[in-house]
Amino acid sequence: MASSSVAAHSPIPEPKKFAPGPILLLGAPGVGKGTKAKELVSAWGIPQISTGDLLRANVGGGTPLGKQARAIMDRGELVSDDLVNQMVAERLKEPDTSAGYILDGFPRTLGQADWLDQHLGATPGSLPVIAVSIQVSYNQLLRRITGRRICPVCKSSYNIYLQPPKVDELCDLDGTPLTRRSDDTEEVFEERMRAYNSLTAPVVEHYRALGRFEQVNGEQPVSAVTAEVMQAVLRLRS
Ligand code: AMP
Repeated sequence: MASSSVAAHSPIPEPKKFAPGPILLLGAPGVGKGTKAKELVSAWGIPQISTGDLLRANVGGGTPLGKQARAIMDRGELVSDDLVNQMVAERLKEPDTSAGYILDGFPRTLGQADWLDQHLGATPGSLPVIAVSIQVSYNQLLRRITGRRICPVCKSSYNIYLQPPKVDELCDLDGTPLTRRSDDTEEVFEERMRAYNSLTAPVVEHYRALGRFEQVNGEQPVSAVTAEVMQAVLRLRS
């Protein structure tokens, strides 16, 4: 009797939350890794860890790491593996990463990939990474990067060629003049593509060879790309 009354008052178990583990979003600068990552963040409640954002926060805050990184970033080159790996190691200690996280812009070299594989191998209970690579052609990337504008207040993003604001260079939501990242020029883009082709393209091949890898066509409408990325993650974890 007593046990059936306890059962009658037991809370209904919540559906198990999806815990996707570590997800890598790979692709050249401007393929839309950040935008897709944000969609996964809101769908699954796991954090996006963007090494570019972490570095920019350090630059903005004038930290010693930011001072070292600033000139390198402005030239479109890569910050050293040691600095970036250490920054990621610190971020992965935060408790919000326990169900999984999306790494956006990391690893960008084979050295970083090896470090990550070892770090996760040595982390008890961690799932192995899964990797989704987003593909976009060079010319499309150039327009995406050189046209990118951001509202410094509400962080809305625009593209003067592909998704312009209603009034030139002003945010639709709050009228603030839009800003451009200092590394979003054609010259810096070309340097970033050189860095991508020589250092990061081999990382894509590394994860393709390991398996648990899928490639998605990034030249479709944003919602279609996001849906494909999500389906790829679900397949890779099934
Ligand atoms: P992103 O916002 O990901 O395009 O990164 C902007 C810049 O930050 C890059 O051009 C690099 O200078 C630097 N950066 C970001 N992530 C990394 C990384 N994983 N390794 C080295 N440098 C990075």
